[in-house]
Amino acid sequence: MKSPVPGSGRRRQDGAQDPAHHGLPVHEVVILLGTDAVRGLGHDEVQRRRAQFGRNELPRSRSGGIAHKLGRQFNNPLVYVLLAAAVVTVFLGEFLDSGVILAVVLVNTLIGFVQEVRAEAALDALHSLVRTHAAVMRGGERKQVPSEDLVPGDLVVLEAGDKVPADLRLVRLSTLRVDESALTGESDPVAKDEVVLPRVTPVADRRNMLYSGTLVTAGTGAGIVVAIGGETELGEIHRLMGAVRPVATPLTLKLARFSTTLTLAILALAAVAFLAGLAHGERPGQMFTAAVALAVGAIPEGLPAAVTVTLAIGVRRMARRRAVVRRLPVVETLGSTTVICSDKTGTFTENQMTVRTIWTPSGRYDVTGTGYGPEGHIIPSTGDGVPGGQAPGAAAPPQERDAALYWSLLGGAACNDASIRPEASGWQVRGDPTEAAMLVAAGKGGIRVRDFLAANPRQAEQPFISERQYMATLHAPAPPHGGGRTVFVKGAVERVLDLCGHAMDTDGGAGPLSRHSVLTSAHALADTGLRVLATAMMRLPTDDGHLSAMELRGRMTLTGLQAMHDPPRSAAAAAVAACQRAGVGVKMITGDHVRTAVTVASAVGLAADHDAGTALTGAQLDDIPADRFPDAVERATVFARVSPEQKLRLIDALQSRGHVAAMTGDGVNDAPALRQANVGIAMGRTGTEVAKEASDIVLTDDDFATIEAAVEEGRNVFDNLTKFIVWTLPTNMAEGLVILVAILLGATLPILPTQILWINMTTAVALGLMLAFEPKEPGLMSRPPRAPDRPLLTWALTLRTLLVSALLVAGTWWLFEHEVAVGASVAQARTSAVNLFVAVEVFYLFSCRSLTRPAWRIRPFGNRWLLLGVLVQTAGQLALTYIPLMNELFHTAAISAEAWLRIFGLALLAAIVVAVDKRFRRRGF
Ligand code: ATP
Repeated sequence: MKSPVPGSGRRRQDGAQDPAHHGLPVHEVVILLGTDAVRGLGHDEVQRRRAQFGRNELPRSRSGGIAHKLGRQFNNPLVYVLLAAAVVTVFLGEFLDSGVILAVVLVNTLIGFVQEVRAEAALDALHSLVRTHAAVMRGGERKQVPSEDLVPGDLVVLEAGDKVPADLRLVRLSTLRVDESALTGESDPVAKDEVVLPRVTPVADRRNMLYSGTLVTAGTGAGIVVAIGGETELGEIHRLMGAVRPVATPLTLKLARFSTTLTLAILALAAVAFLAGLAHGERPGQMFTAAVALAVGAIPEGLPAAVTVTLAIGVRRMARRRAVVRRLPVVETLGSTTVICSDKTGTFTENQMTVRTIWTPSGRYDVTGTGYGPEGHIIPSTGDGVPGGQAPGAAAPPQERDAALYWSLLGGAACNDASIRPEASGWQVRGDPTEAAMLVAAGKGGIRVRDFLAANPRQAEQPFISERQYMATLHAPAPPHGGGRTVFVKGAVERVLDLCGHAMDTDGGAGPLSRHSVLTSAHALADTGLRVLATAMMRLPTDDGHLSAMELRGRMTLTGLQAMHDPPRSAAAAAVAACQRAGVGVKMITGDHVRTAVTVASAVGLAADHDAGTALTGAQLDDIPADRFPDAVERATVFARVSPEQKLRLIDALQSRGHVAAMTGDGVNDAPALRQANVGIAMGRTGTEVAKEASDIVLTDDDFATIEAAVEEGRNVFDNLTKFIVWTLPTNMAEGLVILVAILLGATLPILPTQILWINMTTAVALGLMLAFEPKEPGLMSRPPRAPDRPLLTWALTLRTLLVSALLVAGTWWLFEHEVAVGASVAQARTSAVNLFVAVEVFYLFSCRSLTRPAWRIRPFGNRWLLLGVLVQTAGQLALTYIPLMNELFHTAAISAEAWLRIFGLALLAAIVVAVDKRFRRRGF
């Protein structure tokens, strides 16, 4: 937002309250904002306003964040210790040491800061992948535009499932209900109306306004944009909160707590060592620096950064595989997911519908042609056992001889909100593919639905919702046309049959209805995997009432069944198989008929049998007693005709059996189940904004294979975190121990405090962090899911930590003593000890690349970052050993070739011991 719009925006420059759009009648708001309540703004005006007011985005409060983030890096016990050490070394006159320590503090702070900023930037970038669109009237035409493109004065059209894209003054609405919890904290949806309100009405009570970021849960409406971006109420809250989005997950919090406890314990140990040294008669200054070295060495300061970086890399990899993470903790949960409950339509299947067969009470017809193109015909079916099958090639088109076929096609196309347009890339569908398929079928039958709608415009409707499973429209003749009104219904066969009292005969009359024969035909079609919808109609001679209040039950005449094909996704079967190998159960939860669902399930490799109880319907679920419910749910793989409330029960039941459940959803009513699931997954293409808001992950391609990919990446993130921990703990412990032993024995320190600092800072960044880039291990998806409560520090890991620490301590001590014994100076012996330490860490790093396989079985060039890190570290060690300035800063000295040989010999020996240990303790990490 660049400047407040006349008549828009929350506050004017003079600080006075805005023109209180809720207190004005609509026509005044229209004049104030220079717009049109029907046609919206013109295109040129939109361009002009965009240039003037900027984009509809919340401002990013970066600058305030930088100082805050930098400050946070200093707020850490390790930094306090280091700063104290710097002060003490100044008093001791060791100015070089103080300089090095301060430099380390600075570098440490900068690295922490950069990592945090990068991780946040990566997450921010992801949010732009899931863009919100808004329906808007521009120049009298309805358009979908990205929400950022809205300008003040735009006329926005909303329906259930939409997120309100800006602050709006309502101009019309129909049973509009809005979830305003994002703004007011009130969790019950509020009903809206158009009444002009007093100026002083508080935001929560402004029923004629809609606020950015709230969610439409029911009804439809249209409103004029009165404020965008930072000027909205949401923008105000955003500004007050400073847009804090902490990069924290249960694991990072657990690790942060672990680090703090460990730090405190180590500081206590360092204090004890300090006192012990004094008791030995050492000089206090020297003892203090030794105690600091112990603390610095032993504290795993790289851990929190490594966790953040590993999570951020995981999130980026998932985004590349089309799963956009909305809440970071879910990356951890994915790794332990034990069951995935997924929709059928669009997830296991392409959601590309084509009507293949039409059944009417007196005939059955095949529809030729595929896709949404108009090419194709309707011909009498030649299939076996077909009721009323007729030979093709008869003189008149079938819809002229079978009135039921005509009315089924017309009803399917008139009771319909989809549209199809030719575009360069082919025929493009707007709206529901199921409805688009019925439009295409009507076109193939030569039905002119536009003509019908021009003469009989829609007067009322009951939109399709999952709970009702049908849609109804009421059409009244437009003057000068006369005649009665028509009701069309289309929907799930059982539901439509509930409304029907008759079946249409060939002449358009109302004949007897055999529910049994209709269901038998529908089942036969569903058994071939087709999605079957029934169509029905009713003529109303008089003007009696509105559709919403009208009782349809028993008054409708069934016109036919339309059966459509929706091909299974090509990658679905492989993804289901991969999940099953990985010990992750897959369940299909659909609103469709159980027979259609079972057929599609078997096509993607999910075994289900209705008779054996592994495919259950919503009605059956309701009949299962509560104590047997979880068992039945665990056993079944297909759930059909399931309502959103039942989805919630299913998730509850699975969780009560200890499952970590992922669940997909797209509708408004799926939101509770998405929230309840351990991993809520929304559909990026077909999902409503409400579902996306409630989810942890959004699939940008709606594909089941993407869920499997996300699980795989989630497991990898956990693996890489474990690898870092396995690598870092022994090295930290050994650093601390080397010093502790020296202090307790009253011996010369084999490694000096500043040298410990060098090792710690350089290896954590150049070596340890590179494990975050480690590619997936081959067996990743053939082992069972990780138990969510499994500790990171397992018994095996503890033993490994002790072993590697012991090797490092013993090696360093032996080498230091040996070098001194063969005539090296203390500085040279220390340099050798430092190099040995780093060499063992490098060898051990290669071992940590896999938790189970030996180092030589891992692809050597699989992680180029790690190789680069090793090169950088090697260069650093050479600089430390041979560059005079570094010698001076770190008290090191050039060492001989024989010393290097001993270093490598010892490092190799340590690597062999670790390899042998790994061989015998494969499992347990
Ligand atoms: P899934 O839950 O796997 O996406 P679905 O798309 O079949 O499956 P719903 O959208 O809840 O689930 O649909 C349930 C049933 O309602 C469908 O099987 C169909 O019979 C009917 N139906 C679906 N879309 C429409 C529509 N636009 N108009 C009328 N009836 C519909």
